[in-house]
Amino acid sequence: MTIYQNLIAGEWTGAEAVENINPSDTKEVVGLYASGSAADTRNAIAAAKAAFPAWSRSGIWERHVILKKAGDEIMARKDELGALLAREEGKTLPEAIGETIRASQIFEFFAGEALRLAGEVVPSVRPNIGVEITREPLGVIGIITPWNFPIAIPAWKIAPALCYGNTIVFKPAELVPGCSWAIVDIFNRAGLPKGVLNLVMGKGSIVGQTMLDSPDLAGITFTGSVGTGKRVAVSSIEHNRKIQLEMGGKNPMVVLDDADLSVAVEAAANSAFFSTGQRCTASSRLIVTEGIHDRFVAAMTEKLKTLNVDHALKTGTHIGPVVDERQLKTDTDYIEIGKKEGAKLAFGGELISRDTPGFYLQPTLFTEATNQMRISREEIFGPVASVIRVKDYEEALAVANDTPFGLSSGIATTSLKHATHFKRNAEAGMVMVNLPTAGVDFHVPFGGRKGSSYGSREQGKYAAEFFTTVKTAYTLA
Ligand code: NAD
Repeated sequence: MTIYQNLIAGEWTGAEAVENINPSDTKEVVGLYASGSAADTRNAIAAAKAAFPAWSRSGIWERHVILKKAGDEIMARKDELGALLAREEGKTLPEAIGETIRASQIFEFFAGEALRLAGEVVPSVRPNIGVEITREPLGVIGIITPWNFPIAIPAWKIAPALCYGNTIVFKPAELVPGCSWAIVDIFNRAGLPKGVLNLVMGKGSIVGQTMLDSPDLAGITFTGSVGTGKRVAVSSIEHNRKIQLEMGGKNPMVVLDDADLSVAVEAAANSAFFSTGQRCTASSRLIVTEGIHDRFVAAMTEKLKTLNVDHALKTGTHIGPVVDERQLKTDTDYIEIGKKEGAKLAFGGELISRDTPGFYLQPTLFTEATNQMRISREEIFGPVASVIRVKDYEEALAVANDTPFGLSSGIATTSLKHATHFKRNAEAGMVMVNLPTAGVDFHVPFGGRKGSSYGSREQGKYAAEFFTTVKTAYTLA
Protein backbone atom coordinates (compact mmCIF):
# COMPACT_ATOMS: atom_id res chain seq x y z
CA MET A 1 0.00 0.00 0.00
CA THR A 2 1.30 3.52 -0.86
CA ILE A 3 2.24 5.73 2.06
CA TYR A 4 0.75 9.22 1.98
CA GLN A 5 3.79 11.18 3.14
CA ASN A 6 4.45 14.41 4.98
CA LEU A 7 5.35 17.50 2.95
CA ILE A 8 8.40 19.26 4.35
CA ALA A 9 10.16 22.05 2.42
CA GLY A 10 8.28 20.98 -0.71
CA GLU A 11 9.46 17.34 -0.52
CA TRP A 12 7.24 14.35 0.25
CA THR A 13 8.94 12.41 3.01
CA GLY A 14 8.39 9.75 5.70
CA ALA A 15 8.66 5.96 5.75
CA GLU A 16 6.95 5.29 9.08
CA ALA A 17 3.19 5.10 8.70
CA VAL A 18 -0.04 4.31 10.52
CA GLU A 19 -3.33 2.92 9.23
CA ASN A 20 -6.29 5.23 8.79
CA ILE A 21 -9.28 3.03 9.76
CA ASN A 22 -12.89 3.46 8.63
CA PRO A 23 -15.15 3.66 11.74
CA SER A 24 -18.12 2.40 9.67
CA ASP A 25 -16.18 -0.73 8.77
CA THR A 26 -13.11 -1.38 10.87
CA LYS A 27 -11.90 -3.99 8.34
CA GLU A 28 -11.33 -1.20 5.83
CA VAL A 29 -8.00 0.62 5.83
CA VAL A 30 -8.61 4.01 4.20
CA GLY A 31 -4.89 4.47 3.66
CA LEU A 32 -1.42 4.44 5.19
CA TYR A 33 -0.34 7.87 6.43
CA ALA A 34 3.09 9.02 7.58
CA SER A 35 3.70 9.47 11.28
CA GLY A 36 6.24 12.26 11.70
CA SER A 37 9.05 12.52 14.24
CA ALA A 38 10.28 15.43 16.33
CA ALA A 39 13.10 15.90 13.78
CA ASP A 40 10.56 16.06 10.93
CA THR A 41 8.66 18.70 12.87
CA ARG A 42 11.78 20.77 13.50
CA ASN A 43 12.65 20.52 9.78
CA ALA A 44 9.17 21.68 8.86
CA ILE A 45 9.44 24.65 11.20
CA ALA A 46 12.84 25.55 9.71
CA ALA A 47 11.41 25.27 6.18
CA ALA A 48 8.47 27.53 7.06
CA LYS A 49 10.86 30.03 8.62
CA ALA A 50 13.06 30.06 5.51
CA ALA A 51 10.04 30.51 3.23
CA PHE A 52 8.54 33.37 5.24
CA PRO A 53 10.50 36.40 3.94
CA ALA A 54 9.56 35.75 0.29
CA TRP A 55 5.97 34.64 0.92
CA SER A 56 5.23 37.52 3.29
CA ARG A 57 6.19 39.87 0.46
CA SER A 58 4.38 37.92 -2.27
CA GLY A 59 1.83 39.82 -4.30
CA ILE A 60 -1.82 39.68 -3.39
CA TRP A 61 -2.65 38.45 -6.90
CA GLU A 62 -0.38 35.40 -6.45
CA ARG A 63 -2.10 34.57 -3.16
CA HIS A 64 -5.51 35.12 -4.72
CA VAL A 65 -4.79 32.81 -7.66
CA ILE A 66 -3.43 29.98 -5.49
CA LEU A 67 -6.26 30.15 -2.93
CA LYS A 68 -8.86 30.26 -5.71
CA LYS A 69 -7.27 27.33 -7.54
CA ALA A 70 -7.39 25.28 -4.34
CA GLY A 71 -11.02 26.24 -3.68
CA ASP A 72 -12.00 25.38 -7.25
CA GLU A 73 -10.30 21.98 -7.16
CA ILE A 74 -11.95 21.07 -3.84
CA MET A 75 -15.36 22.01 -5.27
CA ALA A 76 -14.72 20.00 -8.46
CA ARG A 77 -13.74 16.97 -6.34
CA LYS A 78 -16.42 17.42 -3.65
CA ASP A 79 -17.96 13.96 -4.12
CA GLU A 80 -14.61 12.14 -4.02
CA LEU A 81 -13.24 14.18 -1.09
CA GLY A 82 -16.60 13.96 0.69
CA ALA A 83 -16.46 10.16 0.39
CA LEU A 84 -12.91 10.14 1.78
CA LEU A 85 -14.06 12.31 4.69
CA ALA A 86 -17.05 10.04 5.40
CA ARG A 87 -14.77 7.00 5.29
CA GLU A 88 -12.16 8.35 7.69
CA GLU A 89 -14.39 10.24 10.14
CA GLY A 90 -17.75 8.50 9.89
CA LYS A 91 -20.13 11.38 9.24
CA THR A 92 -22.75 10.63 6.60
CA LEU A 93 -21.94 11.21 2.93
CA PRO A 94 -24.30 14.24 2.58
CA GLU A 95 -22.78 15.78 5.74
CA ALA A 96 -19.27 15.05 4.45
CA ILE A 97 -19.95 16.53 1.00
CA GLY A 98 -21.50 19.58 2.71
CA GLU A 99 -18.35 20.02 4.80
CA THR A 100 -16.18 19.68 1.68
CA ILE A 101 -18.20 22.35 -0.13
CA ARG A 102 -17.74 24.59 2.90
CA ALA A 103 -13.97 24.10 2.77
CA SER A 104 -14.01 25.17 -0.87
CA GLN A 105 -16.10 28.24 -0.02
CA ILE A 106 -13.66 29.21 2.72
CA PHE A 107 -10.74 29.17 0.24
CA GLU A 108 -12.83 31.18 -2.25
CA PHE A 109 -13.68 33.72 0.48
CA PHE A 110 -10.05 34.23 1.48
CA ALA A 111 -8.97 34.35 -2.19
CA GLY A 112 -11.22 37.43 -2.30
CA GLU A 113 -9.92 38.78 1.01
CA ALA A 114 -6.36 38.70 -0.36
CA LEU A 115 -7.44 41.35 -2.88
CA ARG A 116 -9.14 43.46 -0.24
CA LEU A 117 -6.14 43.94 2.10
CA ALA A 118 -6.12 47.55 3.21
CA GLY A 119 -4.84 49.83 5.93
CA GLU A 120 -5.68 53.27 7.24
CA VAL A 121 -4.12 56.66 6.69
CA VAL A 122 -4.94 59.13 9.46
CA PRO A 123 -3.70 62.58 10.42
CA SER A 124 -1.30 62.88 13.33
CA VAL A 125 -2.18 64.99 16.34
CA ARG A 126 1.12 66.75 15.57
CA PRO A 127 1.40 69.03 12.50
CA ASN A 128 3.13 67.84 9.29
CA ILE A 129 3.15 64.20 10.25
CA GLY A 130 1.27 61.43 8.51
CA VAL A 131 0.23 58.18 10.21
CA GLU A 132 -0.30 54.87 8.42
CA ILE A 133 -1.80 51.80 10.08
CA THR A 134 -1.15 48.53 8.25
CA ARG A 135 -1.48 44.82 8.91
CA GLU A 136 1.56 42.59 8.41
CA PRO A 137 1.78 38.80 8.47
CA LEU A 138 2.63 37.26 11.82
CA GLY A 139 5.33 34.78 10.73
CA VAL A 140 5.32 31.00 10.97
CA ILE A 141 1.93 29.75 12.15
CA GLY A 142 1.42 26.35 13.78
CA ILE A 143 -1.94 24.83 12.90
CA ILE A 144 -3.20 21.98 15.12
CA THR A 145 -6.60 20.50 14.31
CA PRO A 146 -9.05 17.93 15.80
CA TRP A 147 -10.68 14.95 14.11
CA ASN A 148 -14.31 16.02 13.92
CA PHE A 149 -14.16 18.39 10.92
CA PRO A 150 -11.31 16.88 8.89
CA ILE A 151 -11.55 19.30 5.96
CA ALA A 152 -13.40 22.43 7.17
CA ILE A 153 -11.27 23.21 10.23
CA PRO A 154 -7.94 22.86 8.36
CA ALA A 155 -9.46 25.06 5.62
CA TRP A 156 -10.55 27.81 7.98
CA LYS A 157 -7.05 28.00 9.47
CA ILE A 158 -4.89 27.45 6.33
CA ALA A 159 -6.88 29.90 4.15
CA PRO A 160 -6.43 33.05 6.29
CA ALA A 161 -2.86 32.09 7.22
CA LEU A 162 -1.87 32.06 3.52
CA CYS A 163 -4.11 34.97 2.56
CA TYR A 164 -2.35 37.31 4.99
CA GLY A 165 1.16 36.14 4.03
CA ASN A 166 2.12 33.67 6.76
CA THR A 167 3.88 30.35 6.35
CA ILE A 168 2.59 27.18 8.01
CA VAL A 169 3.41 24.01 9.88
CA PHE A 170 0.20 22.00 9.86
CA LYS A 171 -0.45 19.04 12.17
CA PRO A 172 -3.83 17.35 11.64
CA ALA A 173 -5.46 14.90 14.08
CA GLU A 174 -4.05 11.37 13.93
CA LEU A 175 -7.48 9.83 13.31
CA VAL A 176 -8.22 11.75 10.10
CA PRO A 177 -5.07 12.53 8.08
CA GLY A 178 -6.68 11.83 4.67
CA CYS A 179 -8.47 15.12 3.98
CA SER A 180 -5.52 17.12 5.32
CA TRP A 181 -3.14 15.31 3.02
CA ALA A 182 -5.50 16.00 0.09
CA ILE A 183 -5.63 19.76 0.85
CA VAL A 184 -1.83 20.00 1.09
CA ASP A 185 -1.41 18.03 -2.15
CA ILE A 186 -3.83 20.43 -3.87
CA PHE A 187 -1.85 23.50 -2.70
CA ASN A 188 1.43 21.88 -3.65
CA ARG A 189 0.17 21.39 -7.21
CA ALA A 190 -1.49 24.84 -7.26
CA GLY A 191 1.94 26.49 -7.27
CA LEU A 192 2.50 27.37 -3.62
CA PRO A 193 6.27 27.94 -3.18
CA LYS A 194 8.23 25.24 -1.34
CA GLY A 195 8.16 25.49 2.44
CA VAL A 196 5.13 27.81 2.66
CA LEU A 197 2.75 25.03 3.73
CA ASN A 198 4.37 22.09 5.52
CA LEU A 199 2.39 19.03 6.59
CA VAL A 200 3.52 16.91 9.55
CA MET A 201 1.05 14.15 10.34
CA GLY A 202 1.66 12.15 13.49
CA LYS A 203 1.14 11.99 17.22
CA GLY A 204 0.13 14.98 19.34
CA SER A 205 2.64 13.99 21.98
CA ILE A 206 5.49 14.08 19.43
CA VAL A 207 4.66 16.39 16.51
CA GLY A 208 2.30 18.66 18.47
CA GLN A 209 4.57 18.87 21.49
CA THR A 210 7.61 19.72 19.32
CA MET A 211 5.58 22.57 17.84
CA LEU A 212 4.67 23.84 21.33
CA ASP A 213 8.33 23.69 22.37
CA SER A 214 9.58 25.68 19.38
CA PRO A 215 10.57 29.34 19.80
CA ASP A 216 10.13 29.82 16.03
CA LEU A 217 6.34 29.69 15.80
CA ALA A 218 4.93 33.22 15.96
CA GLY A 219 1.42 31.90 16.50
CA ILE A 220 -0.50 28.69 17.09
CA THR A 221 -4.10 28.30 16.07
CA PHE A 222 -5.54 25.25 17.81
CA THR A 223 -8.88 23.48 17.83
CA GLY A 224 -9.38 20.52 20.12
CA SER A 225 -9.98 19.58 23.72
CA VAL A 226 -9.72 21.89 26.72
CA GLY A 227 -6.82 19.87 28.16
CA THR A 228 -4.62 20.18 25.07
CA GLY A 229 -5.68 23.81 24.61
CA LYS A 230 -4.35 24.63 28.06
CA ARG A 231 -0.97 23.06 27.18
CA VAL A 232 -0.85 25.21 24.06
CA ALA A 233 -1.60 28.30 26.18
CA VAL A 234 0.98 27.58 28.89
CA SER A 235 3.79 26.80 26.42
CA SER A 236 2.93 29.87 24.36
CA ILE A 237 3.27 32.28 27.26
CA GLU A 238 6.86 31.11 27.64
CA HIS A 239 7.57 31.84 23.99
CA ASN A 240 5.61 35.12 23.89
CA ARG A 241 3.54 33.55 21.13
CA LYS A 242 0.12 34.59 19.91
CA ILE A 243 -2.59 31.94 20.30
CA GLN A 244 -6.09 31.21 19.16
CA LEU A 245 -7.83 28.34 20.95
CA GLU A 246 -11.19 26.78 20.08
CA MET A 247 -12.10 24.10 22.57
CA GLY A 248 -15.08 22.28 24.02
CA GLY A 249 -18.75 23.06 24.43
CA LYS A 250 -21.79 22.09 26.48
CA ASN A 251 -24.22 24.06 24.41
CA PRO A 252 -27.78 24.68 25.63
CA MET A 253 -30.91 24.53 23.48
CA VAL A 254 -33.80 26.23 25.26
CA VAL A 255 -37.36 25.23 24.30
CA LEU A 256 -40.11 27.54 25.56
CA ASP A 257 -43.82 26.82 25.99
CA ASP A 258 -44.65 29.06 23.03
CA ALA A 259 -42.24 27.26 20.64
CA ASP A 260 -43.45 25.74 17.40
CA LEU A 261 -43.07 22.09 18.45
CA SER A 262 -41.91 20.81 15.06
CA VAL A 263 -39.31 23.60 14.74
CA ALA A 264 -38.07 22.83 18.26
CA VAL A 265 -37.80 19.08 17.63
CA GLU A 266 -36.04 19.52 14.28
CA ALA A 267 -33.56 21.98 15.81
CA ALA A 268 -32.94 19.85 18.91
CA ALA A 269 -32.56 16.55 17.03
CA ASN A 270 -30.15 18.15 14.57
CA SER A 271 -28.19 19.93 17.32
CA ALA A 272 -27.82 16.87 19.50
CA PHE A 273 -27.48 13.94 17.14
CA PHE A 274 -26.43 14.89 13.60
CA SER A 275 -22.76 14.29 12.84
CA THR A 276 -23.12 11.71 15.65
CA GLY A 277 -23.16 14.53 18.23
CA GLN A 278 -19.46 15.04 17.49
CA ARG A 279 -19.60 18.78 16.91
CA CYS A 280 -18.20 21.38 19.29
CA THR A 281 -21.43 23.28 18.62
CA ALA A 282 -23.67 20.26 19.32
CA SER A 283 -26.35 20.74 21.95
CA SER A 284 -26.35 18.20 24.75
CA ARG A 285 -28.52 20.18 27.19
CA LEU A 286 -32.14 20.55 26.07
CA ILE A 287 -33.64 22.99 28.57
CA VAL A 288 -37.41 22.76 28.32
CA THR A 289 -40.14 24.71 30.13
CA GLU A 290 -42.88 22.83 31.98
CA GLY A 291 -45.82 23.59 29.68
CA ILE A 292 -44.27 21.96 26.60
CA HIS A 293 -41.99 19.45 28.35
CA ASP A 294 -44.05 16.26 27.96
CA ARG A 295 -45.11 17.02 24.38
CA PHE A 296 -41.49 17.82 23.47
CA VAL A 297 -40.14 14.60 24.99
CA ALA A 298 -42.84 12.53 23.23
CA ALA A 299 -42.15 14.21 19.87
CA MET A 300 -38.36 13.88 20.28
CA THR A 301 -38.70 10.19 21.07
CA GLU A 302 -40.84 9.68 17.95
CA LYS A 303 -38.28 11.59 15.89
CA LEU A 304 -35.39 9.51 17.22
CA LYS A 305 -37.20 6.31 16.17
CA THR A 306 -37.01 7.54 12.55
CA LEU A 307 -33.24 8.14 12.51
CA ASN A 308 -31.14 5.38 10.94
CA VAL A 309 -27.72 4.75 12.41
CA ASP A 310 -25.59 2.95 9.83
CA HIS A 311 -22.56 2.97 7.52
CA ALA A 312 -21.67 6.56 6.64
CA LEU A 313 -21.73 5.85 2.88
CA LYS A 314 -25.10 4.04 2.87
CA THR A 315 -28.04 5.90 1.32
CA GLY A 316 -30.62 6.69 3.99
CA THR A 317 -28.17 6.83 6.90
CA HIS A 318 -28.96 9.78 9.18
CA ILE A 319 -26.28 9.16 11.80
CA GLY A 320 -22.92 7.56 11.14
CA PRO A 321 -20.76 5.67 13.62
CA VAL A 322 -18.81 7.12 16.53
CA VAL A 323 -15.28 8.00 15.37
CA ASP A 324 -13.34 5.29 17.23
CA GLU A 325 -13.33 2.81 20.08
CA ARG A 326 -11.98 5.30 22.62
CA GLN A 327 -14.72 7.85 21.93
CA LEU A 328 -17.33 5.05 21.98
CA LYS A 329 -16.13 4.06 25.44
CA THR A 330 -16.37 7.68 26.61
CA ASP A 331 -19.95 7.83 25.30
CA THR A 332 -21.05 4.56 26.92
CA ASP A 333 -19.29 5.47 30.18
CA TYR A 334 -21.27 8.72 30.30
CA ILE A 335 -24.49 6.81 29.59
CA GLU A 336 -23.77 4.69 32.68
CA ILE A 337 -22.89 7.81 34.68
CA GLY A 338 -26.20 9.42 33.65
CA LYS A 339 -28.16 6.36 34.80
CA LYS A 340 -26.30 6.29 38.12
CA GLU A 341 -26.87 10.00 38.64
CA GLY A 342 -30.63 9.39 38.42
CA ALA A 343 -31.44 10.67 34.93
CA LYS A 344 -34.07 8.60 33.11
CA LEU A 345 -33.04 6.89 29.89
CA ALA A 346 -35.90 7.88 27.55
CA PHE A 347 -34.37 6.57 24.32
CA GLY A 348 -31.34 4.65 23.06
CA GLY A 349 -28.24 3.91 25.09
CA GLU A 350 -27.41 0.66 23.30
CA LEU A 351 -24.70 -0.37 20.87
CA ILE A 352 -26.05 -1.56 17.53
CA SER A 353 -24.64 -4.11 15.11
CA ARG A 354 -24.80 -3.50 11.38
CA ASP A 355 -23.64 -5.37 8.24
CA THR A 356 -20.12 -4.06 8.75
CA PRO A 357 -18.16 -3.95 12.04
CA GLY A 358 -18.24 -0.34 13.22
CA PHE A 359 -18.74 1.86 16.28
CA TYR A 360 -22.52 2.14 16.13
CA LEU A 361 -24.41 3.69 19.03
CA GLN A 362 -28.10 4.57 19.26
CA PRO A 363 -28.91 8.26 19.70
CA THR A 364 -29.42 8.53 23.43
CA LEU A 365 -31.83 10.83 25.22
CA PHE A 366 -32.03 11.29 28.98
CA THR A 367 -34.92 13.04 30.72
CA GLU A 368 -35.32 14.19 34.34
CA ALA A 369 -31.71 15.43 34.27
CA THR A 370 -30.48 18.32 36.38
CA ASN A 371 -27.92 20.87 35.37
CA GLN A 372 -25.66 19.74 38.22
CA MET A 373 -25.21 16.18 36.92
CA ARG A 374 -21.92 15.33 35.26
CA ILE A 375 -23.78 14.51 32.02
CA SER A 376 -24.92 18.17 32.03
CA ARG A 377 -21.59 19.73 32.94
CA GLU A 378 -18.94 17.75 31.06
CA GLU A 379 -18.54 17.55 27.30
CA ILE A 380 -19.39 14.02 26.12
CA PHE A 381 -18.84 14.59 22.37
CA GLY A 382 -21.18 11.83 21.26
CA PRO A 383 -24.86 11.26 20.39
CA VAL A 384 -26.02 11.74 23.98
CA ALA A 385 -28.31 14.56 25.17
CA SER A 386 -30.34 15.32 28.29
CA VAL A 387 -33.63 17.11 28.82
CA ILE A 388 -33.58 19.47 31.81
CA ARG A 389 -37.05 20.60 32.95
CA VAL A 390 -37.38 24.25 34.05
CA LYS A 391 -40.24 26.47 35.25
CA ASP A 392 -40.04 29.46 32.91
CA TYR A 393 -37.86 31.53 30.59
CA GLU A 394 -35.91 33.16 33.41
CA GLU A 395 -34.90 29.81 34.87
CA ALA A 396 -34.12 28.49 31.37
CA LEU A 397 -31.72 31.38 30.72
CA ALA A 398 -30.02 30.94 34.10
CA VAL A 399 -29.54 27.21 33.50
CA ALA A 400 -28.35 27.82 29.92
CA ASN A 401 -25.63 30.15 31.22
CA ASP A 402 -24.69 27.98 34.20
CA THR A 403 -21.83 26.14 32.47
CA PRO A 404 -18.07 26.50 32.21
CA PHE A 405 -18.43 26.68 28.42
CA GLY A 406 -19.81 29.36 26.07
CA LEU A 407 -19.55 28.41 22.41
CA SER A 408 -23.08 28.25 20.97
CA SER A 409 -26.59 28.45 22.40
CA GLY A 410 -30.06 28.14 20.94
CA ILE A 411 -33.66 28.96 21.72
CA ALA A 412 -36.92 27.73 20.18
CA THR A 413 -39.65 30.32 20.75
CA THR A 414 -42.25 32.36 18.88
CA SER A 415 -41.84 35.24 21.33
CA LEU A 416 -39.91 38.20 19.93
CA LYS A 417 -39.41 39.45 23.48
CA HIS A 418 -37.75 36.24 24.66
CA ALA A 419 -35.76 35.75 21.45
CA THR A 420 -34.40 39.29 21.71
CA HIS A 421 -33.61 38.95 25.41
CA PHE A 422 -31.89 35.59 24.84
CA LYS A 423 -29.74 36.96 22.00
CA ARG A 424 -28.54 39.72 24.32
CA ASN A 425 -28.06 37.64 27.46
CA ALA A 426 -26.87 34.19 26.37
CA GLU A 427 -23.25 33.88 27.49
CA ALA A 428 -22.03 32.36 24.24
CA GLY A 429 -20.14 33.40 21.13
CA MET A 430 -22.99 32.31 18.85
CA VAL A 431 -26.75 32.40 19.41
CA MET A 432 -29.35 30.62 17.30
CA VAL A 433 -33.06 31.42 17.29
CA ASN A 434 -35.29 28.59 16.03
CA LEU A 435 -32.21 27.00 14.46
CA PRO A 436 -29.87 24.21 15.53
CA THR A 437 -26.93 25.25 17.74
CA ALA A 438 -24.61 23.80 15.07
CA GLY A 439 -24.42 24.83 11.42
CA VAL A 440 -22.75 28.18 10.77
CA ASP A 441 -21.86 30.38 7.79
CA PHE A 442 -18.30 30.57 6.51
CA HIS A 443 -18.06 34.35 6.04
CA VAL A 444 -18.84 35.53 9.59
CA PRO A 445 -16.99 35.16 12.89
CA PHE A 446 -16.89 31.81 14.68
CA GLY A 447 -15.90 31.29 18.31
CA GLY A 448 -17.01 31.35 21.90
CA ARG A 449 -16.45 32.58 25.43
CA LYS A 450 -15.51 31.25 28.85
CA GLY A 451 -13.90 27.78 28.70
CA SER A 452 -14.73 27.30 25.00
CA SER A 453 -12.39 29.78 23.36
CA TYR A 454 -9.37 31.96 23.93
CA GLY A 455 -8.06 34.65 21.61
CA SER A 456 -9.66 36.34 18.66
CA ARG A 457 -12.39 34.93 16.43
CA GLU A 458 -11.91 32.63 13.47
CA GLN A 459 -13.39 33.04 9.98
CA GLY A 460 -14.71 35.96 7.99
CA LYS A 461 -12.95 39.31 8.13
CA TYR A 462 -12.36 38.83 11.85
CA ALA A 463 -9.72 36.18 11.03
CA ALA A 464 -7.30 39.04 10.25
CA GLU A 465 -7.07 39.76 13.98
CA PHE A 466 -5.14 36.57 14.65
CA PHE A 467 -3.24 36.09 11.41
CA THR A 468 -1.77 39.60 11.20
CA THR A 469 0.04 42.03 13.44
CA VAL A 470 -0.66 45.75 13.26
CA LYS A 471 2.00 48.33 12.44
CA THR A 472 1.67 52.09 12.96
CA ALA A 473 4.13 54.18 10.88
CA TYR A 474 4.73 57.94 11.31
CA THR A 475 6.26 60.08 8.53
CA LEU A 476 7.38 63.70 8.67
CA ALA A 477 5.89 65.41 5.64
P1 NAD B 1 -7.43 16.77 21.21
O1 NAD B 1 -7.16 17.92 22.10
O2 NAD B 1 -7.21 15.41 21.71
O3 NAD B 1 -6.54 16.88 19.89
C1 NAD B 1 -6.54 18.04 19.10
C2 NAD B 1 -5.21 18.13 18.38
O4 NAD B 1 -4.19 18.37 19.35
C3 NAD B 1 -4.82 16.85 17.64
O5 NAD B 1 -4.21 17.17 16.42
C4 NAD B 1 -3.83 16.23 18.60
O6 NAD B 1 -2.92 15.37 17.98
C5 NAD B 1 -3.13 17.46 19.14
N1 NAD B 1 -2.40 17.22 20.40
C6 NAD B 1 -2.61 16.28 21.33
N2 NAD B 1 -1.70 16.38 22.32
C7 NAD B 1 -0.90 17.42 22.02
C8 NAD B 1 0.22 18.04 22.64
N3 NAD B 1 0.74 17.60 23.79
N4 NAD B 1 0.77 19.11 22.05
C9 NAD B 1 0.28 19.60 20.91
N5 NAD B 1 -0.77 19.05 20.24
C10 NAD B 1 -1.35 17.96 20.79
O7 NAD B 1 -8.93 16.96 20.67
P2 NAD B 1 -9.75 15.97 19.70
O8 NAD B 1 -10.18 14.79 20.49
O9 NAD B 1 -9.02 15.75 18.41
O10 NAD B 1 -11.01 16.87 19.35
C11 NAD B 1 -12.16 16.89 20.09
C12 NAD B 1 -12.27 18.18 20.86
O11 NAD B 1 -12.19 19.29 19.96
C13 NAD B 1 -13.58 18.36 21.59
O12 NAD B 1 -13.34 18.84 22.89
C14 NAD B 1 -14.30 19.43 20.78
O13 NAD B 1 -15.23 20.19 21.47
C15 NAD B 1 -13.19 20.25 20.29
N6 NAD B 1 -13.57 21.02 19.11
C16 NAD B 1 -13.78 22.36 19.27
C17 NAD B 1 -14.17 23.14 18.20
C18 NAD B 1 -14.36 24.61 18.36
O14 NAD B 1 -14.29 25.32 17.37
N7 NAD B 1 -14.59 25.10 19.57
C19 NAD B 1 -14.36 22.54 16.95
C20 NAD B 1 -14.16 21.18 16.82
C21 NAD B 1 -13.75 20.42 17.91
